[in-house]
Amino acid sequence: MAVDDIIQLPTHQIYEQMPMDFDQDANGPDAEVDASSVPTVALPLRFIFVKHHPHAKQPNEIISLDSAPSTPPLPDDNPRSPPLSNARPWRPFITYSDYKFTSRCVQRRTPNAEIDEDLNDLHTQAFSSDCFITFRTHRDMEKSLAAARTSNISFCRKTLTIDFDGTAFGGTYEVEVEFRDPWQIMKQWVSDETLAPVSTWFSQEKYYCKNGTIDLSDQLYDEPWTGRNWKYADDSLPADDLYPSCYLGLHVWLDKGLVSTKVKMHPILFRGCWIHSATRNGSGNGGSALAGFVKMPPGLRQIDPNTLTGSSRSEYDRLKRMIYRGVCHLVMASLEQRSHHGEALRFGDGITRIAYPGVLIESMDFEELAAWLAIRNSMSLHPCPQCLAHKNDLPRLTRSFTKRTSESMSCALARAPIPKTERNEYLKQYGLHDFEHFLWNFNNSDPYKATGYDCLHFFDGGIWGRHMWPLIKGCLQRDGLASKFNTNMDKFPRWRDLKHFSSPTTIDYSDGQTFLDILKSSLPCIVQLLPANSCLVRLIRVMTKVRALLGLEVTLDSRLAHLHKFIAEYERICNDVSETHNKSLNFLKQHFLSHAINCFKDKGTSRNQNTRVGEGFQQEIAAQYKKTNGKDAEHQMSIMDENEETMARLDMKVDEWRKSQEDDEKDPVLPHAVTSHWKLGSADARMTSTRIETVNRSNSLYRDFNMRLREYLAEYHPNHPVHEDQNIEVGALLKSFVFNLASVSQVEPCKVLYVDFQSKVDWNNGRDILRCNPMFHGRQRYDSVIYEAQDDNLAMGQLQLVFRCHLPRNISLDLAMIRPYRKSSWAARTRTDCPMREWSPGSIFIALEHVTRGALLCPIFGAPREVFYVIDCVDGDMFLRVNNID
Ligand SMILES: [Zn+2]
Repeated sequence: MAVDDIIQLPTHQIYEQMPMDFDQDANGPDAEVDASSVPTVALPLRFIFVKHHPHAKQPNEIISLDSAPSTPPLPDDNPRSPPLSNARPWRPFITYSDYKFTSRCVQRRTPNAEIDEDLNDLHTQAFSSDCFITFRTHRDMEKSLAAARTSNISFCRKTLTIDFDGTAFGGTYEVEVEFRDPWQIMKQWVSDETLAPVSTWFSQEKYYCKNGTIDLSDQLYDEPWTGRNWKYADDSLPADDLYPSCYLGLHVWLDKGLVSTKVKMHPILFRGCWIHSATRNGSGNGGSALAGFVKMPPGLRQIDPNTLTGSSRSEYDRLKRMIYRGVCHLVMASLEQRSHHGEALRFGDGITRIAYPGVLIESMDFEELAAWLAIRNSMSLHPCPQCLAHKNDLPRLTRSFTKRTSESMSCALARAPIPKTERNEYLKQYGLHDFEHFLWNFNNSDPYKATGYDCLHFFDGGIWGRHMWPLIKGCLQRDGLASKFNTNMDKFPRWRDLKHFSSPTTIDYSDGQTFLDILKSSLPCIVQLLPANSCLVRLIRVMTKVRALLGLEVTLDSRLAHLHKFIAEYERICNDVSETHNKSLNFLKQHFLSHAINCFKDKGTSRNQNTRVGEGFQQEIAAQYKKTNGKDAEHQMSIMDENEETMARLDMKVDEWRKSQEDDEKDPVLPHAVTSHWKLGSADARMTSTRIETVNRSNSLYRDFNMRLREYLAEYHPNHPVHEDQNIEVGALLKSFVFNLASVSQVEPCKVLYVDFQSKVDWNNGRDILRCNPMFHGRQRYDSVIYEAQDDNLAMGQLQLVFRCHLPRNISLDLAMIRPYRKSSWAARTRTDCPMREWSPGSIFIALEHVTRGALLCPIFGAPREVFYVIDCVDGDMFLRVNNID
């Protein structure tokens, strides 16, 4: 059936998520209805059209976007049998108290002595007369924990023997590997019924449709299953088996981290890409699983590779690569055959499918990635993990190069000449080391396709934090402008979630987020400091635009087309910067930007690929390490990890059970219309409008407040003070109304305004908390808003007073007095496309129902008059909204 035929389907109503069946005959009661008697389907104005992969055997869906859902819709709303309604979900713990006590001890990693002390006090009635904990000592608790752990995937130990041929490091190495079988981990996730509602087993193609018609031209990418790689994997699996074939993509994260000042560990984490990001990237059940540690053998651990030179360095690197490869292969081995032939599993939703595991996404820093992929280092001829770009071509961001694939790389290795020197020279042309990659033999696990684009490391902390910001900072310092710049940054208006810096040029090293916040704030602080037509100012502007689109959690082909345009603009400006400031652009992170768009189309948006998701884990293992005695620490930590995971899974079951109990007791919530998208808070005492005017007489914006408010109410809210049966002519109405208002009306000023809005990024609810406060954390703060004016739905103004206006007959109106901005055509020293505003004269009243959301505007420091930049890069919604993208 053609896509256009969909509107002929006999369906009465569009629901928020409406299943629509293209491939099968419609069944159920609707199918009986004579098509001619049924009106054609009225599609929502804007919606997401979801095409499930044929293996899913699910009808296509329409998700309406006409209003923001109160909770994000789950793509899979298969009814589930209510689990655990009458069970004791805390089993094998004897009582709920036993479970709760253990959960807390495990979470806090309480030492045994303290557990015993607490138990003793509990049982000797020091705290209460009734104690439901059955444990007497930590040993009893350990027994219950051990019983609970049996449902867990245990760590196993294997020893890998590596014979290494070399002069500096030659010898036989015994590498101990303590790891958990990834297949067992995946099986547990897949069969866990509590994870089924947050899992999507098959790839989907999603399309953003507007104008009320189905249009497959603007594809949407968010979670990994919306990417092309998953679809290709699904396509490659058998379609005609008894059970449906299902690809299970794994996210592999590998990094080194210092767990103490001396000890470095290399944990490997797995995530199930089919689990929704909120759960997958969280720390509870369904979040990351520690698969093991790549542990350097004793003797190698103490070596600092930076002190090695020449052949010993390359020998050390070769040995390290062999260890990496050996350990990773050993850990992943159970997936190899299954990636080709699959294995039947009963999934958490009760359906049996043939599961084919594979590696879908790898998140690693370059050093780890190079070791994992067995490619040459960042200084080699062809250093990119994804393509064969020559090192001199790295700055050419809009050119594409031959992609690396498992096939092409294994062919290159096979074709390499045997004699050592020629072989080495030949492999250099491919940036390869002389290694067969173990993933070449896995199905649907191309290790080059699986490398992601990591915004945090490649852009925030990389191109900007390591290269462009230091260049700009250096120029400011050299020209004696750094202090002036810092003074401007100190005056940058405060905004929620944007870190404020009073002296950014004195920060030498920081994380990606800090650098990102500096980038977002820089433009108004620097534009009048640097010489006219400065390429550095244009660089800052274009980088904020690129970054705004890189960071979107939901993206579209149309948004990526804008990103492509911005990257091309960035490339041109970079060439200017390179010429003017002698800045080399030949570095890998610059080049990675050229892969970003395809990475998002292949694997979903950047949040699926950031290494940031593993960084919380580094802190976790550092904390775990502190609780060990340092001896065989990895082993002690793996036990701790098992305990935490066990309890996290029990926590989820107990939570669900508690919720099911609550649901039985509560009345069902009736559907209700949420009429207002704003809330007022932190109210002051009520005052009459004349009193407000008197109190603020020194402020010209309050001039004639009382009279202007009355005029505003008469014009925009003429119906409020009068009942419908009072049929009075307009002039008389106005007169009596003004009289009433003057005598009774009161104004209740508020200092905080909450505004809910539908985010342009993912169409879910967003919320701004806006301040209108003469003294907020020691300084005055008057935030700005975007509001709908008659001729402009992007009108902006600064809040001066937010208040509830109490009118006669118990009528109240929520209003704001704002200082409106208007567009400005003033020319800064360097012109950019960053939107500008200046003040319109005076102040006006607006109803809060017309406020769309908050806005951040910053004065352009050093301008001869008050002109502002709209800080459109402050979040994704603001950027799309202000620049009118989709
Ligand atoms: Zn490349």
